[in-house]
Amino acid sequence: MQSSNRGKLFIIGIGPGNTDFMIKRASDAIRESDIIIGNDFYLNLIKPLVEDKEVIYSSMGKEVERARRCIELAEKKKVAMISGGDPGIYGMAGIVIEIIKKDSSGVDYEVIPGVTAATAAASRTGSPLSGDYTTISLSDLLTPLEVIEKRLDLAFQMGVPVVLYNPKSNGRPHNLAMALGTALKYKSGDTPVAVVKNSHREGEEIRYYTLAELFEDDGFVDMRSVVTIGGEESEFIGEGEDISGIITPRGYDRKYVY
Ligand code: SAH
Repeated sequence: MQSSNRGKLFIIGIGPGNTDFMIKRASDAIRESDIIIGNDFYLNLIKPLVEDKEVIYSSMGKEVERARRCIELAEKKKVAMISGGDPGIYGMAGIVIEIIKKDSSGVDYEVIPGVTAATAAASRTGSPLSGDYTTISLSDLLTPLEVIEKRLDLAFQMGVPVVLYNPKSNGRPHNLAMALGTALKYKSGDTPVAVVKNSHREGEEIRYYTLAELFEDDGFVDMRSVVTIGGEESEFIGEGEDISGIITPRGYDRKYVY
């Protein structure tokens, strides 16, 4: 069934896991679309919504091709392009909008936000990001390694929590050790760290480390994990085997007595 003659491109973030963690506008837009484009992994997470749709499976690493194809299809049809987390955070929105601008395409598009990995993981680990924080991706596919190193060096001097996306993959197993080594230049070895693997998905696992411990052995971390390194005021909730999260006070204690 075709919904109307006018095309539209929805660039949709599905959040960290299955449809329970997606916003309503995202599921409505998928229902409204004629064609769904995304990779197996994400389409599997939202299977009930795409079962009776025309689906185009795309593989990782062909983002530019995928973006152009979606823009062309969206001239006449309603197309849903699926991204994990938020599409504007290390996702597909950037490249799609770059191409729309470059090609002066008049395509109608809408970016629909999703819960990004940093805040999804934070919700599982207390309140590690209560105030300012920063995120850095360790993927050097699109950003040169020297630029990542420079940003890390500056980020760890800010004293705020730092969330590392794309912390490790087969192609770049050493970037995480480099990042943790940089953190140790400025931060105490006792700094609390949370690793959240597969947040809000099957296989979810959470482990806590001190910065020095994770630097010693980061074997648990993989590309489906985010690593949250506490800021100068962050503390563990609980001790030893009973650690249940990280709290970064926002500063209420400077203003109120409680
Ligand atoms: N657009 C996505 C990020 C894509 S980059 C977002 O907003 O979340 C891919 C990286 O995101 C992964 O290497 C991992 O570090 C992180 N990531 C994405 N989903 C995750 C999840 N459910 N649990 C843990 N990390 C996740």
